Amino acid sequence: MRFRVSQELRQAVGTEFSLELRRGSLFLDDQVALSDLEGSARLLRTDRGLLVSVRARALIGGTCSRCVSPLQSPIEFNLEEEFIPIVDPVSGAHITAAEAEESFVIDAGLTLDLGEALRQYALISSPSKPLCRPDCAGICPTCGANLNDGRCTCPPRIDAGWEALAAINTNDQEGS
Ligand SMILES: [Zn+2]
Ligand SMILES: [Zn+2]
Repeated sequence: MRFRVSQELRQAVGTEFSLELRRGSLFLDDQVALSDLEGSARLLRTDRGLLVSVRARALIGGTCSRCVSPLQSPIEFNLEEEFIPIVDPVSGAHITAAEAEESFVIDAGLTLDLGEALRQYALISSPSKPLCRPDCAGICPTCGANLNDGRCTCPPRIDAGWEALAAINTNDQEGS
């Protein structure tokens, strides 16, 4: 998501601008993609560059944490970052690497690329254990069948993990 900001950078400190954000899809990494991204960005000219504030919502792709079927989870996120131009928009002089190090940068063509910042903030906002539906039945640990499609033919089994956990809880109660 790239925006030319050469005009914005020539304005006085304190000048505000706004941008509409709308994108059908945006890849976050090899596996995760955002879709239906919608939002708005406010750009504020600072003495160093542009302070960008974004409010956005999107669908983020993923897999159900119980049955591993693909799903899309709605997310909302806000982002606020200062973007520093690597060249001075008026004089064309390059700013020092140290100044640019901790910040997002606006490239030498005075194009601001929101993609990396959106990627970082969207990934932080993505649910850690998404479910395809609140009552997802998961997969059978024995045969791997998706139990949302109906019961498999495996005999019912006692889960050793739950038994062990129950024993730990009992010990805790005895100790206190
Ligand atoms: Zn599921
Ligand atoms: Zn089974």
